[in-house]
Amino acid sequence: MAALGNPTNTIAVLQKYHFNFQKKYGQNFLIDANILEKIIKAAGVNENDCVLEIGPGIGTMTQYLCEHAREVVAVEIDKKLIPILEQDTLSAYDNVTIINEDILKLDLHALVQEKNNGRPVKVVANLPYYITTPIIMGLFESHVPLDSITIMVQKEVAERMQVGPGTKDYGALSLAVQYYAKPEVMMTVPASCFMPRPNVDSAVIKLTRHAAPPVTVPDEKFMFDLIRAAFNQRRKTLVNALGNAAGLCLEKDSILCALEKMECAPTIRGEALTLEKFAVLAQLLYESLPIRRR
Ligand code: SAM
Repeated sequence: MAALGNPTNTIAVLQKYHFNFQKKYGQNFLIDANILEKIIKAAGVNENDCVLEIGPGIGTMTQYLCEHAREVVAVEIDKKLIPILEQDTLSAYDNVTIINEDILKLDLHALVQEKNNGRPVKVVANLPYYITTPIIMGLFESHVPLDSITIMVQKEVAERMQVGPGTKDYGALSLAVQYYAKPEVMMTVPASCFMPRPNVDSAVIKLTRHAAPPVTVPDEKFMFDLIRAAFNQRRKTLVNALGNAAGLCLEKDSILCALEKMECAPTIRGEALTLEKFAVLAQLLYESLPIRRR
């Protein structure tokens, strides 16, 4: 078993198994040992941890995780990679479970129960960029027990998770991430650290889960339905964006009344509201709903 995290051994494994990269799976493998060491350090992985890795690829980061964690669960969608992982690159480790599945379809609660007695796991991954948002939202919204998520994502997406109102990148992802976690960009990573090279620069972001959300809302889903509707039509006023959203069934008068109580202009847009303001708006609008719709 060769140590990965460098171009020579990566190419040797790829050639040995006649592996062709699948663009549809967002396959860009890390080939820089220095970056890998830094990711493990940023994630704070130690010998007590159970780590969930999404998309091990040929097992490059998995090798590092196996060296530092008590237990690693690696979920890979591409069945062609499974024999490489099982028979070759991870064969020397007895603390890894390889699962050939789509992360979006897996019952993660059952997995965390089985592998870590339901105690919080750490998620560490070089994510497939085509599904970054559904993966992050799925992890948070399903309330899978987790301490932190340390992930490589597209640099712009990492920035979007950190920003506040008044910037063009501020949106539903920023609000969702900040509701559930404290985001910290740990490092930027140039395209030259991957094989094949992606067309974008990347960044490692750590999302440390809040013990309790920073705001209180009567119904989390209702607040996120409001947020999504506000940013689906981000150039429209909040009154129009929410009033036009079919699924919400909100009267424009109720929205105007709520904004007045919040001392916000009737022409305000969603992109000007902080998480705290969205929480107040959600509270006021929720109270205005007929009981049967709550
Ligand atoms: N961890 C490896 C590395 O750093 O070299 C590979 C990272 S590569 C960016 C993303 C990996 O995620 C690929 O191996 C890809 O096949 C896998 N993947 C893509 N979609 C997936 C999904 N829905 N569920 C699980 N794995 C997925």
